[in-house]
Amino acid sequence: QIDFIQALQMPGSSEKKVPEISDVQKKKLTIEETKKSLPIYPFKDDLIAAVKEYQVLIIKGETGSGKTTQIPQYLHEAGFTADGKKIGCTQPRRVAAMSVAARVAQEMDVKLGNEVGYAIRFEDCTSERTVIKYMTDGTLHREFLSEPDLQSYSVMIIDEAHERTLHTDILFGLVKDIARFRPDLKLLISSATLDVTKFSEFFDDAPVYQIPGRRFPVDIYYTKAPEADYVDACVVSILQIHVTQPLGDILVFLTGQDEIETCHELLQDRVRRLGSKVKELIILPLYANLPSDMQAKIFEPTPPGARKVILATNIAETSLTIDNIIYVIDPGFAKQNHFNSRTGMESLMVVPISKASANQRAGRAGRVAAGKCFRLYTAWSYKHELEECTVPEIQRINLGNAVLMLKALGINDLVHFDFLDPPPHETLVLALEQLYALGALNHHGELTKLGRRMAELPVDPMMAKMVLASEKYKCSEEIVTIGAMLSVNGAIFYRPKDKIIHADTARKNFYHMAGDHLSLLNVYNQWRDSDYSLQWCYENFIQHRSMKRARDVREQLVNLMQRVEIEMVSGIDETDNIRKAITSGYFYHIARFSKGGSYKTVKHNQSVTIHPNSALFETLPRWVLYHELVFTTKEFMRQVIEIESKWLLEVAPHYYKAKELEDSTNKKMPKTVGRSKMTD
Ligand code: ADP
Ligand code: MG
Repeated sequence: QIDFIQALQMPGSSEKKVPEISDVQKKKLTIEETKKSLPIYPFKDDLIAAVKEYQVLIIKGETGSGKTTQIPQYLHEAGFTADGKKIGCTQPRRVAAMSVAARVAQEMDVKLGNEVGYAIRFEDCTSERTVIKYMTDGTLHREFLSEPDLQSYSVMIIDEAHERTLHTDILFGLVKDIARFRPDLKLLISSATLDVTKFSEFFDDAPVYQIPGRRFPVDIYYTKAPEADYVDACVVSILQIHVTQPLGDILVFLTGQDEIETCHELLQDRVRRLGSKVKELIILPLYANLPSDMQAKIFEPTPPGARKVILATNIAETSLTIDNIIYVIDPGFAKQNHFNSRTGMESLMVVPISKASANQRAGRAGRVAAGKCFRLYTAWSYKHELEECTVPEIQRINLGNAVLMLKALGINDLVHFDFLDPPPHETLVLALEQLYALGALNHHGELTKLGRRMAELPVDPMMAKMVLASEKYKCSEEIVTIGAMLSVNGAIFYRPKDKIIHADTARKNFYHMAGDHLSLLNVYNQWRDSDYSLQWCYENFIQHRSMKRARDVREQLVNLMQRVEIEMVSGIDETDNIRKAITSGYFYHIARFSKGGSYKTVKHNQSVTIHPNSALFETLPRWVLYHELVFTTKEFMRQVIEIESKWLLEVAPHYYKAKELEDSTNKKMPKTVGRSKMTD
């Protein structure tokens, strides 16, 4: 730890004076005062005038200046909702959509879901009265299916445009097109302070409205040598700041919920050991699956004499602004989806951030006073190793979903679609091939009846196919549960550090020999049989809130099944049909046992390994299907089931040929599953 002090070149508290607590924090401002204190406020009338004058406007402004929360309110007050039309505002992140909507409802003194609401996948918190609607970019994308001209909107704000998510990128093309034949529709493209000329050029040289931000200087410190364990380095840095630096809150950027929880536990442990010698340190996590009551805590003012430390994912980079951050700790990583169009494999991995991201993160420290940013990497690394900008999602992820949606919107010629940055040709071709193999497109590339139904479901094409195939295999009840459980991307199993053995034993009690999807089904069904009991979750080390979410998602899926006219039936007491339905959707994700516990994917011969948390980690069946790949030290398959290779010929005859499914050895593996009873 001593080494680290030097490595960080932590300035002594005497070196520079940082104001103790900002004025804003000292007196509790009323909502009205807070609104007036935002950098955007002086530009209110001017901005409204600009919106009236131009159909498309690019808005560029420092994070936290009030773009997301204020602009819709200004436009509402200025009469843009008078004719019964809504103001829409998209967000790349679910949490941001929910949190911002809650804030705006509070500012307008209305109940969330009435005049101000939000819509995210599987959750619609709006009503007929809603005039300001926040939603994820994916949700708006989906709304085009039922309302191709966005007739119910007078203004559409594509917010956080700089994030360049796949959905946002596609929305650019869609809204640009709509704007041509709906001259009454106003379009606002809003971005953090990055280069926006590209947006302007794309929208036929639309004017750029710049909101001058207030930014205090931020001193940046680097480590002298790379950090081997950045979570640990974060903990050390937090404590050092806490002990040596004047009051002011700390924002730490981590890559995901797991990491945040680890850091949280470590930090709590060490703070406890320091005892009453130090000031109070309030530790708050912030990630996508955080329940909203916990999210709200982030925005509560820090009590006098205490310090808040927020352990956040990328969400806090530009989507959410937390006031009074003086110190930022940036390990320099983020989690990203990566798609390899050569192997067709998509994998979630932790990657170094870009310079643009690093600068946004540092900027979070300078909103209310001069701040400090501690980068847990070297200055050399920043200069020579980080890319300038993050590669837009459209150029690095699987496009299956996007292509299906565009096809469902009747956009057939994807090569000539108006993309801000076109996706790589091979990725587009691969997506078309995948949809063809799934049966969503015919050989002319046109949407089939199955494809149309798949597009109705707000899940990726593979899951949509799995869900729809459950009709044929007469197990829709089970498949919908499995789909819901897989969609809850928060953890299902709870693994507290001091009870790891108990937790692991509890988890193993749910294990199903056929694989993890069926273990998840066990968890859900037993929870249902406990009458959705909290106590039951507690006793079995299951995260109750993840389960509640799974229940909500399940309900939504059941409703959607009715819409596409699929009867809900419960499968038989053996699992073959369930696994066949899963295979109908995920036949791309097949691996064959190779040697020494390792597997090879069938089509591309890539090495993959069963995740240690899988029920199949020890049994190592010959053929497995995985739900997703996660790259850490190697490619791990997460959520795995055993399948029989002949099923592949049954569910995907145009994709698999009998020859490539021949086993290289004739040795029969002992048959362990297939007839095993569900424990339910
Ligand atoms: P921008 O979109 O320009 O980044 P925002 O409109 O998101 O800015 O934020 C403006 C102000 O509103 C910030 O000071 C932020 O802290 C505050 N704010 C946003 N959401 C909430 C919330 N849920 N609770 C309290 N304050 C919030
Ligand atoms: Mg914003």
